[in-house]
Amino acid sequence: MPWPPHWSEITDRDVLSAIERVPRHRFVPRDYQEYAYDDRPLPIGHGQTISQPFIVALMTQLLELTPDSKVLEIGTGCGYQTAILAEIAKEVYSVEVIPELSERAAKTLAKLGYDNVHLRVGDGWEGWPEHAPYDGIIVTAAAPAWPPPLVEQLAAGGNLVIPVGPSGWDQVLWVATKLEGGISKRRVAPVRFVPLVSQFDEEESA
Ligand code: SAH
Repeated sequence: MPWPPHWSEITDRDVLSAIERVPRHRFVPRDYQEYAYDDRPLPIGHGQTISQPFIVALMTQLLELTPDSKVLEIGTGCGYQTAILAEIAKEVYSVEVIPELSERAAKTLAKLGYDNVHLRVGDGWEGWPEHAPYDGIIVTAAAPAWPPPLVEQLAAGGNLVIPVGPSGWDQVLWVATKLEGGISKRRVAPVRFVPLVSQFDEEESA
């Protein structure tokens, strides 16, 4: 993929029509309504952000979902990416660590009529083992390292799309495909995400 990647890289028609259909302004706080359709991240409270639409499209395309897919998202945030996934896949499971964000996302998604979305509050580092394996897993916060439980919960042939790197800088978006004998990893682009908070961070700063 040429750098910087551009909207012309988004060729998956299902992804493009999902981006067209999901009303992003419904997920954006009132103060930022006028910027809802700009191609940039915006604050959603609690120090978190709604991702830039291009990044949402890129990550969704990398998942290679079908209408039969069961997908896991880590970092529900405002639920925008969740809605994009729900437009394309059969069932979407999404884990968020901040209860208030999960509650607000649940309300927005219900109002928009998504009934194939399942939300849970918890530490996404652990995934959601009860519904594994997943045909695709997407992490929308930067992981300090590869989370072994997520690799474990991926179905054979499934893609894990994940930014990995330290907080604030030097993060790389990866796509990892689960194969019979292991996992094949490919670097996609340098990116900047809010950090995936982990038990490990808390222990370190304690
Ligand atoms: N897809 C979201 C992105 C939100 S930003 C959107 O478009 O709105 C990343 C989100 O990951 C934040 O909501 C943050 O609270 C959440 N997050 C951070 N660490 C997490 C963890 N360990 N488990 C689950 N969610 C986490």
